[in-house]
Amino acid sequence: MPKNDHYVIIGNGPAGNKAADRLRDRDKEARVTIISDEAFSFYYRYKLPDFIAGRISEDALKVRPYTIYKEKNIRLRLGQRVERIDPDEKVLYLKHMKKVGYTKLILATGGSPRVPPSFIRFMEYFTFMTNYNDAVRIRPELQKAKDIIVIGGDLISLRFIKMLTGMKKNIYFILTRNCFWPIELTSRMAGKISSSLEKKGIKALVDTPIAAITRQKNKLLLETGDGQKIRADMICSFLGLKPNIDFIVGSGIDTEKGILVNEYLQTNYADIYACGECAQIYNPKLKDYWISIGSENAALQGETAALSLLGAHKVIKPVPKNLLNVGGVSVNTSWWKQF
Ligand SMILES: Cc1cc2nc3c(=O)[nH]c(=O)nc-3n(C[C@H](O)[C@H](O)[C@H](O)COP(=O)(O)OP(=O)(O)OC[C@H]3O[C@@H](n4cnc5c(N)ncnc54)[C@H](O)[C@@H]3O)c2cc1C
Repeated sequence: MPKNDHYVIIGNGPAGNKAADRLRDRDKEARVTIISDEAFSFYYRYKLPDFIAGRISEDALKVRPYTIYKEKNIRLRLGQRVERIDPDEKVLYLKHMKKVGYTKLILATGGSPRVPPSFIRFMEYFTFMTNYNDAVRIRPELQKAKDIIVIGGDLISLRFIKMLTGMKKNIYFILTRNCFWPIELTSRMAGKISSSLEKKGIKALVDTPIAAITRQKNKLLLETGDGQKIRADMICSFLGLKPNIDFIVGSGIDTEKGILVNEYLQTNYADIYACGECAQIYNPKLKDYWISIGSENAALQGETAALSLLGAHKVIKPVPKNLLNVGGVSVNTSWWKQF
């Protein structure tokens, strides 16, 4: 490899960091850069609930000190959003048309809260929480709130509910089938989740349609399709994640719901790879695309993308594991349609 190779990774989560580490371990000469729109360096998202509840400090969120990047000679560009990619010119555009050239690129941009079409009209009443900025923003409001409605059923909602239980809040949980992409929550899963929640004193409403949400003085009033009225201080929405791919659309990189990659995590451009929650991975044996969630899967994919990029043609395999136990509920972390 020529000395002036520049490997750029977009995304500062487990997938992006693992990819950067592996690239640096295997290629001491190349420039390695991580670009992320978040201004906070690599942190444990799963610890955000403990941070909100006031159980841990901001420092405890950090996976590693900032100085590690200097030691490893990995350039970290935080607080910089990639606005556009030109795969033919091998250039990324940041804000103000600032350009960054790359030799090879890894997309590890994760996902953002998804709002299915039937919920869009209620969006202005929803609170979302997936990253550090959200956590800082909602922490004071959440500490004051007494009654909280959680809409969802995905992994993050279950983590969030666990936090609220510890904070002794009154919780109403509207469990929604349409919260896991690309599959629907099965009746078996929904049953397990609601019975586990009911045991903890949480009122769970399964698949109950929302008829209206209105603001009444300091409270929000949610009316269900079957005539129930619930007053709450906050309504938190966790209806799955949508891969962060808006900035890719129109670049020529193939996307569907996520960034389409083959089993080597390579996109339709030979020098661009994708990994973690933004990727939709083809498996020749399944003859289908699959996705995975969770830090461990994201890191494994980051490593695989880095090794493939370096020429090892490492194959990533879909493994349906009930990896995560959240409050007594086993959450599948890899899915494909037939699963
Ligand atoms: C509250 C909470 C609890 C969780 N609990 C668990 C758990 O218990 N166990 C578990 O395994 N997983 C858990 N997760 C999920 C886990 O955090 C994710 O699976 C993991 O972070 C995904 O990693 P990733 O590297 O694919 O993406 P991310 O960690 O989402 O990182 C992607 C990064 O790319 C940045 N980015 C996106 N677009 C751009 C752009 N255009 N330009 C520049 N930067 C961009 C994003 O801002 C983000 O910083 C939890 C998540 C949350 C929010």
